[in-house]
Amino acid sequence: MSRYTGAKCRLCRREGEKLFLRGSRCEGQKCAITRRNYKPGQVAKNTFGKITEYAKQLRAKQKARRIYGISEKQFSIYCTEAMKKKEETGMALLKSLETRLDNAMYRSGFAESRNQARQFVNHGVVKLNGKRVDIPSIHLKIGDTFEVREKLKTSPIFEKVKANKKFKSSKWLKADSQTLKCEVINMPDKDDVEASIETQLVIEFYSK
Ligand code: SF4
Repeated sequence: MSRYTGAKCRLCRREGEKLFLRGSRCEGQKCAITRRNYKPGQVAKNTFGKITEYAKQLRAKQKARRIYGISEKQFSIYCTEAMKKKEETGMALLKSLETRLDNAMYRSGFAESRNQARQFVNHGVVKLNGKRVDIPSIHLKIGDTFEVREKLKTSPIFEKVKANKKFKSSKWLKADSQTLKCEVINMPDKDDVEASIETQLVIEFYSK
C-alpha cells in the first residue's frame, strides 16, 4: 500500500487524538480534533466504544504508522527488522523511525511537521554530509550532518525558522537555527521518541 495522501486531520479523528500532522495548525482552534472529535464518515458521532485486543493492536500500529507517515509495507519491514535486533524490540522500532532523515529534519526544528520535512527532502532542499539527497527514509548515524541547501536558506519559509524565538531541537541533534545546519550527536533514547506509541501492542500485532 502506498503512502496516504488524503486529509491529514481525518487520520487524527480516526485515532481519536491529535497526531500533530499539520504543524502550527495543530496548536490552534482550527484543529479538527478540537472542533469535531468523532470518527470521520457518516456513522454516528462517538463510537469509540469497547474494542477487542486485536483492534487495540491494530489501532496502535495504525497510529504509529500515521504519526511517522510510513507506508504499511515499509512499517512492516521496520518491525521485522526490529524483532531481529538484540535491544528491546519496541525501542529498536522507535529508533529506526526516529533516525529517518525526514524525521530528523522535523526534530531539528527546520520543518514544522514530518509531512513538511518529507516534502523538503523529496524536493531536494536538504544536503546530507555535503551531498544533495531526495530520499526521506535514509537512516542517520552519529556524526552525520544535514543542512538546508545554501541558496534556499534565504527563502521565506526558512527566514521564519531563523526568526523563531522558540526554536528548539531534540537533544540527540545539534541544530543551529541561523545556519540551518544540524549534526547527529547521539542516538535518540526513550525521552526522544513518541511516548504515546504503544510499541508492545504494535509488536504483538506483527508477531502473529
Ligand atoms: Fe491532527 Fe493537526 Fe489536524 Fe488537529 S490540526 S486534527 S492535530 S493534523
